Amino acid sequence: MSSEDCLFCQLINGDIKADVVYVDDDVFAFRDINPQAPVHILIIPKQHIATINDADDSHTSLLGRLVLTAQVIAKREGLAENGYRLVMNCNQDGGQAVFHIHLHLLGGRALSWPPG
Ligand code: 5GP
Ligand code: ZN
Repeated sequence: MSSEDCLFCQLINGDIKADVVYVDDDVFAFRDINPQAPVHILIIPKQHIATINDADDSHTSLLGRLVLTAQVIAKREGLAENGYRLVMNCNQDGGQAVFHIHLHLLGGRALSWPPG
């Protein structure tokens, strides 16, 4: 899929509306449209990378930025002390539905383990 057909690239471009919680030069974050917890935010790179399988050494810093942005947002949302979960799904068995990598930040309730 090219980035022109990508839902999350369209959210970044503003072609589709999103409830945006964070933006910088490289990273974009917004509330999930179908939240699975009281706080459910998706943190994505502005650069189109379809799956984590497509990442390479050139993306090391960018992938680190996703995690550190999740940390900042988790603190801002009041999740840091009680805790939260960061998840990145990959391909069919991982349950990936949108092929532009995204880090799920889930919190605001106790999350069960193992996941389904
Ligand atoms: P995945 O299953 O690929 O890891 O997660 C995709 C996530 O994107 C899902 O949690 C889904 O609810 C969310 N999502 C899908 N379409 C939209 C949309 O148009 N807007 C927003 N904000 N979230 C979306
Ligand atoms: Zn994309």
